[in-house]
This record gives sequence, C-alpha cells and structure tokens, in this order.
Amino acid sequence: MEQRKFQIVDSLESEENDRIAQYERELEDLHNRYSALAETSTDAIVQISEDYRILYANSASMGVFQTDPATLIDTPFADLFPPAEYKRTRQTIRSYFEANLEDRQQRGLSNHLELLGLTAAGEIVPLEISFGLSVSAEQGRIMTCIIRDITERKKTERKLRYLAYHDKLTDLGNRDLFALSLKEYLNEVRRYGNTKGALLFLDLDGFKKVNDTLGHHVGDAILVECTRRLRNCLRESDQIFRVEGEEREGAMEDLFRFGGDEFVVLLPQLQDPREAAVVAQKIIKDIRKPYPVPDSVSFPYISLGVSVGIAVVPDDGMEIPTLISNADVAMYRAKERGNTYMFFTKEMNTQVTRRLQLEEGLRRAVETPQIRLHFQPIHRRGRGVVGMEALVRWMHPEEGEICPDDFVALAEETGVIIPLGEVILRKACRFLGHLQHHGFADLFVSVNISPRQFDDPLFERKIVNAIERYRVDPRGLKFEVTEGVFMRHPESASKRIHELKVQFPGLSFVIDDFGTGYSSFSYLSQLPVDMIKIDQSFVMGLNQTHNRKIVRSIINLVKSMDLGVVAEGVMDEEHARYLEEHDCYNHQGFFYYRPMTVNDLLKLLWRERKIRQTETDYGEECEK
Ligand code: C2E
Ligand code: CA
Ligand code: CA
Repeated sequence: MEQRKFQIVDSLESEENDRIAQYERELEDLHNRYSALAETSTDAIVQISEDYRILYANSASMGVFQTDPATLIDTPFADLFPPAEYKRTRQTIRSYFEANLEDRQQRGLSNHLELLGLTAAGEIVPLEISFGLSVSAEQGRIMTCIIRDITERKKTERKLRYLAYHDKLTDLGNRDLFALSLKEYLNEVRRYGNTKGALLFLDLDGFKKVNDTLGHHVGDAILVECTRRLRNCLRESDQIFRVEGEEREGAMEDLFRFGGDEFVVLLPQLQDPREAAVVAQKIIKDIRKPYPVPDSVSFPYISLGVSVGIAVVPDDGMEIPTLISNADVAMYRAKERGNTYMFFTKEMNTQVTRRLQLEEGLRRAVETPQIRLHFQPIHRRGRGVVGMEALVRWMHPEEGEICPDDFVALAEETGVIIPLGEVILRKACRFLGHLQHHGFADLFVSVNISPRQFDDPLFERKIVNAIERYRVDPRGLKFEVTEGVFMRHPESASKRIHELKVQFPGLSFVIDDFGTGYSSFSYLSQLPVDMIKIDQSFVMGLNQTHNRKIVRSIINLVKSMDLGVVAEGVMDEEHARYLEEHDCYNHQGFFYYRPMTVNDLLKLLWRERKIRQTETDYGEECEK
C-alpha cells in the first residue's frame, strides 16, 4: 500500500516536472521570439520601470544613442535626452504611464512623441518615440519605448517646407511665407504693443517691357540682380536702425517675392514710420542703377524703376488683408507717378473706388454713343489737310468729356481695350469709307492700335469686317503702333504686319511716338513699316539743342530708308519752319488744328476744297 502511494506521488512529481520543463521551454521560446523581434528591429527599443530606469535596451539602441545597450541597463531614462528637453516633456511621458490606449485618445495623447535625444557623443538627434504599457507581477508597470532616429525625415521635411515657402528663382520667401511671417509679427505686436512696423509693396516699373522685349532669361537675370540689391539695402538699413546691442530675431525673414516683379519688405521694428521712407528711398535709388544685359549688343544696359507703397503697422491696420490691400493701394498710387514711394492714406481708398467705377462705366460705355471719335488733321504745306488721326473720346453722362489719357491705359490693363478698340476701328473705317465715297479718296485716316489689341488673335478678322462693311479702300488706312509691338516678338510681329499688308494692299503702318522707346536704328530697317511719327515731346522741345539733334537724326534716318515722316506736337510757326527746313513736311499739332468732331472736320474739308455743301450732319453711327 505504502509502495503504491509512493509510486503515485512519484508519477505525479514527474508529471509536474514534465509540465514545468514544458513551461520553461515555452517561456524560453517566447523569450527567444521576443528578443529576436527586438533584436531585428532597426529602431531602438528601450523598456523602463515606473521609476524611469532602463530595464532593457536592444542592440539597435547602439545606433541611436552610440552606447552599448548593456551599459544602459539600470541608468536613468532621462540621460537619453538633453536635460531641458526632458524637463519639457517629462509630464507628457508620465501620462503614457497612466493612460491605457483608450485613455490616450480621451486625453488627446497621440501614440507617439517627437523630441530631441542626446547621444553618448553629445550629439542632438531628432527622435520619434512610441509608447506601449505592460504590467509585470514583479516589476509593476513597464513602459516599452520604440525610438526612431528621424534625422533624415526631418531633413526632407525641412527641404520640402523650404521649397513650399520659397521662390525658386530668387530664393526669397514667397506669398505663403509672407502671410505666416506677417501673422507672427502681428501677434507679437499685439502681445508686446508699442512697436511700429511697415509693409513695403514694391513693383518694378518697366519690367514687363524688358521681359517682353529681351526675353524671359534676361528678365530672370534682372530679377535676381534686383533681389541682390534689395537684400543689400535691407542689410544696410538694418544696421542703421538697429538699436545698439539689440539683435533682431535672426529667423524673421523680411524680404519676399510676391510673384512676377512684385516684392514685399516687412520692416518689423521702427522707431518712427519715417524710417520706412528712408528705406524706400534707398531701394528706389539702388534699383534705378543700370543693369548690364548679358550678350546683348543693341541694349548693353537697361534701366528700371520701382514704385513703393507703404502701410504702417498698427496705424494702417492690424489685420493681414487690410494691411496688404492698403500697401497695395499705396503702391498703385506710387506707380501712377513712377519711381517713387507713397504712404497709404485713407483718401486713397476713395480713389480706388473711383477707378473701379471708371472701369465699370467704361465697360458699359463701349457699345454706346458715349464713345466717339474726334479727328486731328495732318497738314502739309501747299496741300492742306492730307489725312487725320482718329482720337477716341468718352462722353461721360455725369463727368463730361474724358480724355484718352485718363482711360486708355485703364482699358489696356483691364482688357476693355479689345472691345473698345474694335468700336474705334469700326468708327474710323466708317468715316474713311464716307470720305472715300464723297470725293476725298486722297485722304488717309490713321488709327491707334494698342499692343494688346495687336496681340488679339481676332485682330485680322475685325479688320476684314470693318473694311468690308464700309467698303473701304485700304490705301487710305494707316495703323499707328508703338515700338513695343515689335520689341516683344520682332519676327512674328513683322510677319503678321507683312501678311496684313498682302491681304489689304495699300494698308500702311506708322510707328507712333518714335524716339521714346528703345529705338535701335539698326532694327528699324527690318520692320515692315511705312512711316515714322516723331514723338511730340521732341517737336515741342525744338528750342533745345538736344531735341533739335534728335529730330534731325530721325529725319535723316527716315530719309535714308525711304519712309514717310510726320511730326506731331507742332505748336507754333517756328516748329513748323524748322521741320520744313529739314525736309519734314507732314505736320500735326495745335498750331494747325486741334482734334475736332467729324462735323467740324467735314466743314473744314469742304471749305478747304471750296465745296458748297448743304447737308452738314454726318450723323453718329446708330447701328451696331
Ligand atoms: P497719341 O497717339 O500720341 O495721340 C496724340 C495726342 O497728342 C492726342 O491726344 C492729341 O490731341 C495730342 N496732340 C496733338 N497735337 C498736339 C499739340 O500740338 N500739342 C499738344 N499739347 N497735344 C497735341 P489725345 O487725343 O488726348 O490722346 C492721347 C493718347 O491717347 C494718344 O496719344 C494715344 O496714345 C491714346 N489714344 C487716343 N485715341 C486712341 C485710340 O483710339 N486708340 C488707342 N489705342 N489709343 C488712343
Ligand atoms: Ca497716335
Ligand atoms: Ca503720338
């Protein structure tokens, strides 16, 4: 019986031992599996106890912290971080000990944390740590931290952010970065008060012309050079205004490119708004210096201007849209004068409203009798009136007659010139047809064509329509274009003009305002034009030697190329005599006639040709 009892105990013990051995094997398996898992990971895995001591560190910890994992055991977790960084995040790390996965969501804790680590070599590395919580019977709560070195990711992020916030060409901050910087700055102003600042909106004068005429590569080079000059200006002003010993925050960017030829300067610390004017003056002076044009013989240097609008913080606003709009309005006003700066004033907003009203009014006026043509005769000694220039007038119902100088530029900027130009062309052709069918077939009518109109792909179509509709002989039709039309795309402009002249035999082209553009004499010979109009500024200034020289050389040039020439702006007898002495016989100017209505012009022509006429009213065009 005893024997049997022992046997049973024995067999129970051996069963128990088997089970324990089995458990041990399973445990070892599990351990092996876990440590294989931990050891395969390229992220550092560190386990810490509730008193923040390291219980375990895998081999990859070596890669991240440059320390043998074995020596990490039992050292403080805090040693893995720069002290200040650890202090800053300790509370958060603590909360991972307290919160299980669901709690985390409730507490708004994300599953991982980005913070800086410290290697044994004393280097700082950006880390991303995720936390897992487990409970051990012996050691209480254990936190497993998976730690990833995110240096590369941070680099890429920085690169991407840089690209997103900077302009490729000039390396300046872009519009988005400006918005961020301005927001940050305004917050600072709100917080600390009693500081003034200024926003300078810069727009280059004449840049578009450079881009159009000399090509984008030259335009780009000039923008880069402008950027260099602007940076210089700001560096120097910064030195002038810096309060002794007080460093400005290094990270604050203060020069931005808004796209195209627009730049923005943020001056964050001014004692007095007048300092902004000093900076603006310096910018204007530096931008004005000539720019060398690479590889260009005909234009080795070009010059540009810049218009600057200034809005002062906080006087002109504390909200981003208000400040931007005010600085923009001021810049617009500066632009009207060119090469100057303007501080924003409240009245400017009224003027902007007026401009908008004018634009709106013009759009509506285009197809109505409010738009009329006046004609200024061109006179030739011995022959009298030989032709006339069509000059548009806007008869505004409330404001009376508005001069083209006050709305043609607006029409160009807004595109209204396209429908407006078509109306002008139609009216001019109608009048020319009338003359040609009433015994004045020897007279010509010249029509101003703005560059934008010329670029219109439907331009040819519109000419055909007008010519056919009024049965016009194209020999009496001239188009006045400025040099700008050719400078942009000389070949294609010449080709188009040539084709038009083939399509409409006798149609001729005049270069208007000659002498004010780039007027390179060598290129003139290649243009398919028939006549040159000497700009009125030279004619009106004939009492000065340099103007006389210019006029003489233009006339000689024109003669040598067998082109026609008209002088415009002939204001007195002396001008007329001087021009005739130098073989320029076609004159346009107040000395002879001012622009006049069609009816006045018809009366003049009848009188000149001694035609008795009973019917006097030409009548404005009624049909569309
Ligand atoms: P523009 O083409 O150079 O036209 C000549 C301008 O000089 C006209 O002014 C004319 O009245 C003025 N003028 C002519 N002789 C004299 C003179 O002896 N003394 C003075 N002080 N001025 C004289 P207007 O009609 O005010 O036109 C101004 C500008 O507006 C024109 O300059 C032209 O650029 C533009 N423009 C006028 N009509 C049209 C048009 O139908 N289409 C387009 N695209 N532009 C036009
Ligand atoms: Ca003209
Ligand atoms: Ca002119």
